[in-house]
Amino acid sequence: MKHESHHPPAVPSIHGFSPGFAALGLEASLLTTLDTLGYEEPTPIQRESIPPLLAGRDLLGQAATGTGKTAAFALPLLQRIAQGVKHRPAGLILVPTRELAIQVGEAVQRYGKELRLSVLAVYGGQAIGPQLHALKRGVDVVVATPGRALDHLRRHTLQLKHLQIVVLDEADEMLDMGFAEDLEAILDQTPKERQTALFSATMPPRIASIAHRHLKNPIEIKIAKEPIKAGAAPRVQQTAYAVLRPHKVAALVRVLDMAAPKSALVFCRTRLEVDELTAGLNTRGYRAEAIHGGMSQGQRDRVMQAFRSGQTELLVATDVAARGLDIPSVSHVVNFDLPSAPEVYVHRIGRTGRAGREGAAITIVEPREQRLLRNIEQLTKAHIVVTPVPTVADLRAKRLERTKASIQAVLAEGDLDQFMAVVTSLAGQGDPVAVAAAAVKLAHRAQGGEREEPDIPAIPSRPQEPTRMGRRPPWETGGPARGAKLGEGQRRVFDRPGRPGRPANVARVYIGAGRAAGIRPGDLVGAIANEARVNAGVIGGIDVQDRFSLVEVPEDLARGIIEALGRTRIKGQKVPVRLFRD
Ligand code: AMP
Repeated sequence: MKHESHHPPAVPSIHGFSPGFAALGLEASLLTTLDTLGYEEPTPIQRESIPPLLAGRDLLGQAATGTGKTAAFALPLLQRIAQGVKHRPAGLILVPTRELAIQVGEAVQRYGKELRLSVLAVYGGQAIGPQLHALKRGVDVVVATPGRALDHLRRHTLQLKHLQIVVLDEADEMLDMGFAEDLEAILDQTPKERQTALFSATMPPRIASIAHRHLKNPIEIKIAKEPIKAGAAPRVQQTAYAVLRPHKVAALVRVLDMAAPKSALVFCRTRLEVDELTAGLNTRGYRAEAIHGGMSQGQRDRVMQAFRSGQTELLVATDVAARGLDIPSVSHVVNFDLPSAPEVYVHRIGRTGRAGREGAAITIVEPREQRLLRNIEQLTKAHIVVTPVPTVADLRAKRLERTKASIQAVLAEGDLDQFMAVVTSLAGQGDPVAVAAAAVKLAHRAQGGEREEPDIPAIPSRPQEPTRMGRRPPWETGGPARGAKLGEGQRRVFDRPGRPGRPANVARVYIGAGRAAGIRPGDLVGAIANEARVNAGVIGGIDVQDRFSLVEVPEDLARGIIEALGRTRIKGQKVPVRLFRD
């Protein structure tokens, strides 16, 4: 991807729309929506994808989650559908998992709010009844997992003959999950003259072959691979904390409590997030102020003044707002969100560690964003340690350390005569060490050391490539995740928690269909992940025999998996499913 324009002039959209988005050819109602969402400028993938998609071109895009690719395809899809002939459904977005179907469905709904287009997500594991009703009423855009889409096609409850646009999102994941044939079957039922966009984080030959067969003269978009110029990346200690989205604010507060930054610049992607996070930090006792493109010059000057003078310890900003500011070097840069492009990350963390001073960059990262994090590592040639969020015990220990340090400082100052008299009098009644301990307790309490802390759950395992029978599943070996060359820290975080290198309790599920019925391991992974709503990463060995198959799954999930598979069709057939005993 070309990157001449990473840092266009900071033109805040105080009155009117983001000029960046308007220049891409998006219509006013979509610009209004983006403004409401607080998007200040398009991400690189959006800048590259939106114009050709609006012009009706097919597109082959290499982009990871977190780059803004959903909006990159959803905005032009919505605009073209709204302007096109009204046959339903006009748009189909295929995604590998139930979670993604829900997430992309919600995003498309959000982006299309002003256009009044209807969106429906259909996925395995969801009752089919309500889907049938909604499909019957007619929807403009369907977001679906391939298995469920095919199921509806077979029932004739989904018709694709009027389809204008198909998007294959995370195509490599769909292939990994065994959806290749399903994809072909679905695409076969769509009109030849449709527009097609295919997004994939990686471009293995299998994807290239699908693209070759189903895309017409596609425009190809790829994140640039040129490394950052040597010396351009600042020398800053970089740490990322992995946490699930609902716990991001709590995790940030925990990390800030541990780091106790003197002055930190906290980056968010959108104006909305800047405002929400600032409010959240203030309620948790931080002096934080927001700065973004939606504020007047007077407001910004006041905020900057407070930050420079040390009155405000945390400045929460969007990239666009920070770009136009003369910000002094800060002790910490915090990425509350990963930026959409590695270059922006470098630009952000350049705000710390200036002029030989020590600096630290802290990033809060969701498990699904780890690929983007690795892109950043590759480009910056710097290692980013990924660790779990500090525990409550870690924080308590840190706070005690601080209380101890402040007592040592007071001791060093001297001038304690007045207090010595009190100690002497109290010690007359008991142990002088106990007296000192009580005083420390009081000081600790006064410093907030006894505050209640929320629980931040460890993150569950992430999807991993299914293993074949005979190989140990990843959560037994503690081995690396799919395709990942992970550092030690990452492995610890992203693997199944609580079972480091210990054999898990494994059950084997018998499925009464095998090679003779055209079953491949991927079909079983797809069925289990989508129908039983379990993470593909927990599936262990898979053994497909002629007439039956065996799948290793964690014992505690076996019952749910068996029930879910019993209700569903595998490759279009009902098959017996039960617990396997030798
Ligand atoms: P995605 O890569 O589609 O999963 O998007 C990642 C996140 O970036 C989502 O939370 C979006 O809301 C957000 N996002 C997408 N585009 C922009 C943009 N232009 N400015 C700010 N945030 C964005």
